[in-house]
Order: sequence, then C-alpha cells, then structure tokens
Amino acid sequence: MRNDSLTPASVPDSAIAILPATSSAISPHADGTLVDKYGRHVTYIRLSITDRCDFRCNYCMAEEMTFLPRAQVLTLEECLRIAASFVDLGVTKVRVTGGEPLVRQNVVWLLEKIAALPGLKELVITTNGSQLDRFAPALRAAGVKRINVSLDTLRPDRFRAITRVGDLGRVLRGLDAAQAAGFSRLKLNTVMMRGSNDDELIELAQFAVDRGIDIAFIEEMPLGEIGHGRQSSYFSSEEAIARLEQRFVLLPSTESTGGPARYWRIPGTATRVGFISPHSHNFCESCNRVRITARGELYPCLGNNDALALLPLLRAHPIDDRPLRAAIVHSMGIKAKGHEFSSQMEVPQVVRFMSMTGG
Ligand code: SAM
Ligand code: SF4
Repeated sequence: MRNDSLTPASVPDSAIAILPATSSAISPHADGTLVDKYGRHVTYIRLSITDRCDFRCNYCMAEEMTFLPRAQVLTLEECLRIAASFVDLGVTKVRVTGGEPLVRQNVVWLLEKIAALPGLKELVITTNGSQLDRFAPALRAAGVKRINVSLDTLRPDRFRAITRVGDLGRVLRGLDAAQAAGFSRLKLNTVMMRGSNDDELIELAQFAVDRGIDIAFIEEMPLGEIGHGRQSSYFSSEEAIARLEQRFVLLPSTESTGGPARYWRIPGTATRVGFISPHSHNFCESCNRVRITARGELYPCLGNNDALALLPLLRAHPIDDRPLRAAIVHSMGIKAKGHEFSSQMEVPQVVRFMSMTGG
C-alpha cells in the first residue's frame, strides 16, 4: 500500500545504526588526512544544508512529506563548523546540496564562508535549478566553482509530472542565468526511469551538446519509500549507453571523480557524458567521500545505514571544534567497504530519502 506520509524522522530506528559521536582522542592519519580502514583517502564531503525542497520529485520524495523541525536541522554556523573541520583534516572539495540548497535562507553567506576556508580547492553545489535565475550571479561571486542542475526531461508536462510541482521554463531560465554568470562547466543530472523519461535520453544529451555542458545519467537508487515501484522503472547505464550510441560516438574517458560516475566524451563537442551506476558498476573501491545530512548525521557510505550523530556533539561543545574533529576521524573506522544496494529495488534498502542524505 502506498505510504505518502513517511518522513525522514519517522524512519524505523531499528533500521539505522546512528551512533553517538564520541569525542575520544583519536589522531588522524600520520599525514594529517582522513584515511579509512581500507586505505581510502576521504577528500570530498557532501553537505546537505536542508531537507526541504520546493519540488517533490517522484523518485526522491513521497507526495506528502513532513520536514524536520527547525531545531533538529543544522544551523548555518554548524554547517560551517563541520565544513571547516573536514577541511582542516584534508578535505579539498565540498558539495553543498539538500533537499534544495537554494531554498535555505542566507545560503549565500554560508557559501562565501566555505569558499574562503584555507585549503579548500573546490566548492560546488547541486540544485534543482528553480532558484538559479535569481541566485546565479551571487553564487559566482561567493566562490562556487561548478553547479550541477537536475533535469530529467525537456517536456513541460512531463517535468510537472515528475517533480509534481516544478516549472520547466523557470529551470531553463536558471540554466541561462548560470551560463551568463560565467558558469561554463555546468553539469546536468538526469535520473533514468523506464516508461517515464527513457525515450528522451538522446534529446537530453543533444541539449547538453547544444549548450556545451556536461550531462550525467543516474541509475535510480532504492532510497526511501516512494509512491512508485522502483523495480519496474529501473533503467541501467548499459542500456542508456547503447541507446545514446544510436546517435553519438562515445569515447571512454579515464577521468574519475572517485565516485560512481564513469565518463565518455562526444568527439567534436565540449560535452562529457557520465553514467552513475551504483547497481551495474561497483565504484566503492575508489570512494573518496562522506555525506552529512541536514540533521548533522555523518554517513560514511550512501548505501549503508551506519552513521554518527554530530549534532549533539556540536551543541555540547559550542566553541570547541576538537571533539568534532575527533569524531570525524573516528568515523573513518565505520566507513563500509561497499554499498548494500542490490537489484531488488522494491524494498528501500536504505530507509532515508535522498533529499535527507543529500545527493
Ligand atoms: N534538490 C537538488 C537537486 O535536485 O539537484 C539537490 C538534492 S537531490 C537529492 C540530488 C540529486 O539526487 C538529484 O540529481 C536527484 O535527481 C538525485 N536523486 C534523488 N533521489 C534519487 C534516487 N532515488 N536515485 C537516484 N538519484 C536520486
Ligand atoms: Fe527536491 Fe532534488 Fe529531491 Fe527533486 S531530487 S525532490 S529537487 S531534493
């Protein structure tokens, strides 16, 4: 039966192992960086600054969502403390995400502060694009280096159906504004869904080529209980590659972001085409990232339920970041070797929504 009122807060506790973050004195790796027990260096964090969103994408959220009470969400100052502590420990790339990061009040303040952290090389964001037409110049001025924009279809009716409330025209104006503001390396993120947008993959890639931007096609992940059966909508990267090769020449590229994406180039164009394949391509060996949810849980692995609760620690030590840094180092000990997704898409194998964890 459909459950439209599942909330991140109502996820059964038995499914999650959220451990209290300890502040015991543990040292980082000898070179001062974060290294997990499998020898993987963590240099990249994805920071979700809100669980709220102005869209309700049907693969991401249930139709009726109850969002977290404000007191359970990281303040912007707490977001900054977390980012600063990770950067102190050798992280060089921060992605700000959500929910929809651009609906968070004073987000530009936070972005400016993170961008200015000594040692940070790259501040990037992921957005649904609904607010980009008004935010693009401010993001550029704040020091954001690249923007990923989610776009699953170029058809207004379909866009409305997938996002349940979104306006495609506004997102397209947002892309224009971002390019006009100087974001030349925009990337589109497209979740592939059989029977929903799989007939548009070539058009979407052509759209990216015409704009001289990148596009990544994402296999749907079993995160959170949603309205539709994921098994029937699952569309694999391999099938997408075969489909795109009907129109384009795809040259494999060796570029890697240490994540699940594999990249191809379309010769004669500026466009790279990525495939994010958590099911069909195991990327865990080279994983370089961890995630922090809007309520301050540190998830070392997207596809695993183990997490550390940082919020109590942050609030118990409002002006001393040493316990926070010790907890971050400690989290390296619980980073799973690999994710737990299987091809059994019907059961949400990870009970939290992507909007909670941050994509
Ligand atoms: N609201 C912003 C956006 O849509 O870009 C940022 C947050 S959103 C959770 C980040 C990315 O996760 C988006 O590209 C979205 O398409 C993707 N996403 C959400 N739920 C997903 C799922 N179940 N499987 C795969 N990707 C998902
Ligand atoms: Fe919102 Fe992004 Fe999730 Fe869509 S994918 S509902 S825009 S958080």
